[in-house]
Amino acid sequence: MAPATTIFDRILAGEIPCYRVYEDDHVLAFLDIAPLSDGHILVIPKERKACLHELSDDAAAALGRALPRLCRAVVAATGATAYNVLQNNGASAHQAVMHVHFHIIPKTGAKGLGVGWNPGRLAGDRAEELVDGMRAALEGS
Ligand code: 5GP
Repeated sequence: MAPATTIFDRILAGEIPCYRVYEDDHVLAFLDIAPLSDGHILVIPKERKACLHELSDDAAAALGRALPRLCRAVVAATGATAYNVLQNNGASAHQAVMHVHFHIIPKTGAKGLGVGWNPGRLAGDRAEELVDGMRAALEGS
């Protein structure tokens, strides 16, 4: 089944406007319409996939190449000395638009991303299970 269309497909198609920062064959970057801070941008693949783990290697590589350059551009244009790169997958993980996107969010004073972080403790037996499971999945991919 093809993934559902989203507002980002309409932006990619030029049907609704955006403040475009960067575009290449695989990637589009534009200002977030509801910024957490001045200079908050979104970086999206042109490939229509909801979550990061679904992306093709080509789309992922293009994003990986563009992201540090775009971080440099955001820092240069805003003067921010700190920023967050945020990438949500799934509604329960705060994803509202079901098309892969990276937020680049300058941290300037109180403006920017607020992070809730409730760390636990890593138990040795669970760590072994997790590593085994992830390595097995990687061998199969
Ligand atoms: P999410 O919570 O899915 O990670 O974030 C989606 C982001 O998309 C939000 O920060 C929201 O402001 C942004 N957004 C949603 N619709 C539009 C739009 O039409 N134009 C732009 N530029 N950003 C949008």
